[in-house]
Amino acid sequence: MEKKQLGNTGLWVTPVGMGVLTVGRTQLDLPLADGAQLIRYALERGINFFDTAEYYETYPYIAAAPFRDAVISSKSLARGAAGMSRAIEDCRRALGRDQIDIFLLHEIRTREDFQSRAGAWQALVDAKAKGRVRAIGLSTHHIDGAEIAAAMEGLDVLFALINYKSLGIRKGESPGCKEEMAEQLRRTAAQGKGVFTMKALGGGNLSGDYTKALDYVTALPGVNSIMLGMGTERDIDDAVNYTEHNLPRAYRPDVSKKQMFVDQGDCEGCGACIARCTSKAIAFNQQGSAKIDTAKCVKCGYCAYACPVRAIIML
Ligand code: SF4
Ligand code: SF4
Repeated sequence: MEKKQLGNTGLWVTPVGMGVLTVGRTQLDLPLADGAQLIRYALERGINFFDTAEYYETYPYIAAAPFRDAVISSKSLARGAAGMSRAIEDCRRALGRDQIDIFLLHEIRTREDFQSRAGAWQALVDAKAKGRVRAIGLSTHHIDGAEIAAAMEGLDVLFALINYKSLGIRKGESPGCKEEMAEQLRRTAAQGKGVFTMKALGGGNLSGDYTKALDYVTALPGVNSIMLGMGTERDIDDAVNYTEHNLPRAYRPDVSKKQMFVDQGDCEGCGACIARCTSKAIAFNQQGSAKIDTAKCVKCGYCAYACPVRAIIML
């Protein structure tokens, strides 16, 4: 598969990458061998770019796959320097790598949030200076986070949420729009920073418009690669076939075997989905996050649209 340089990082990545979150405990919770096999399959199909995170607990799956030449991006929710340094060391150790290709501040929401994580950012800067990380940056669902990335010196990469229906884009406490996010991606890339994106398919909720949804993001100025959550070999085949122009324009993935899930990492416990679900298929778990009873769920998707942070996905 053709590769593109991720900004000026010197890292060359495939236009589509595999979000490894899908296989981990907050989503499919696959057995280690099955998750590792899925990553191996993605590598065999030519994908060389993988997104993970400290929080996802998916390093063992990656470590069990022959990922030597792949580009790995990870991230941490750590707020201070000690937590971020520990996260980087844990990643290096777990993946058996001296240098992690990309390490990010995970999910920057606002300027205040970014400022409160200044210690973690400094730890990333220091790790890069020591050669433990090659490129540093931030991930975000928020216009505010992308604005920070566009303006910030020393930042190499931005990993941001965008899709053609603006699902899950935030601006402060309100919904944000794709046009504003696209402009920040363009500004960021214009400075030689790498840009890759998440949730082009709106957490699976835009799968019915598969090619249209991917066309929108791949055509955005400045976007080097799009990360897609992949939970089956079919998901991988679809992404590769799309990238290699081997997919009919009217292609619709078969989602009949997929289920609705609440991403426990993204859920903020607001209860909007519970109020919206007429099938009474959602309740809070003991941790205060929403959980879907798949036996009652009719996969109408209403809850996904009601969720302000797009924590409800189809897998
Ligand atoms: S998809 Fe529909 S039935 Fe299933 S949990 Fe959401 S709102 Fe309820
Ligand atoms: S609407 Fe979203 S954030 Fe709110 S409880 Fe449901 S899944 Fe969590």
